[in-house]
Amino acid sequence: DVTHGRILYLEDVHRSFDGFKAINGLSLDIAPGELRCIIGPNGAGKTTMMDIITGKTRPDKGTVFFGSTIDLLRHSEPEIAQLGIGRKFQKPTVFEQLTVFENLELALKTDKNVMPSMLHRLDSRQSDRLAEILHTIHLADSVNRLSGNLSHGQKQWLEIGMLLMQDPKLLLLDEPVAGMTDEETARTAELFLTLKGQHSLMVVEHDMSFIRTISEIVTVLCDGAVLAQGTLDEVQADERVIEVYLGR
Ligand code: ADP
Repeated sequence: DVTHGRILYLEDVHRSFDGFKAINGLSLDIAPGELRCIIGPNGAGKTTMMDIITGKTRPDKGTVFFGSTIDLLRHSEPEIAQLGIGRKFQKPTVFEQLTVFENLELALKTDKNVMPSMLHRLDSRQSDRLAEILHTIHLADSVNRLSGNLSHGQKQWLEIGMLLMQDPKLLLLDEPVAGMTDEETARTAELFLTLKGQHSLMVVEHDMSFIRTISEIVTVLCDGAVLAQGTLDEVQADERVIEVYLGR
């Protein structure tokens, strides 16, 4: 078993765009229940890496496994979502004209064209799960509020809640605290620490103080490969990391 019990396993992945090597020999793995932060300068390949994991982009070569048995390169983007990999883009995309509750309810439906009024009632297991998620995402007091009236941070939490309704094993999050107030950022750290253990998380972030509060291991991407990996203190003290952040 090449994946050594990892939830996510990438080995020597390559992807070029018109001859430009956006991903160039990327190897990386994530343990079950781990919360991994990914940092790296613009153009390092962070978005392309997430596109490859979620099946939005295909690598030219390399190995991408989910758990020890699932070869992600044999699955389509919707199949990969069904398998339990949830992705959140930087901007919140909640349904603003619906309530918090309706957004979470809708997240259970794979056919998003159906109106909330046409949804079947949740079964008791789903209702329990929804209530638990509302609490986790700090929106238990806002269940009947219109999502359009939520703050930016609350919308981000709601979208994370919508992903959680699908009970993903792995969550990929792109700059989750960008644009948040300090208090929202602190509560997002709390939220992530609650999720860790039950889910594996891969978080691309630039906010170093946020990373410090949530992460054990930080991976630094540069030029489409891993430049350094370790605690935030270790990678911040690494000469090569300092050079790519300050020297370019
Ligand atoms: P990051 O998210 O770390 O900023 P990206 O993965 O977005 O990095 O981009 C890595 C490099 O690949 C960039 O130089 C970018 O211009 C290039 N790239 C990404 N996607 C495409 C594409 N679809 N077509 C052409 N070039 C791309």
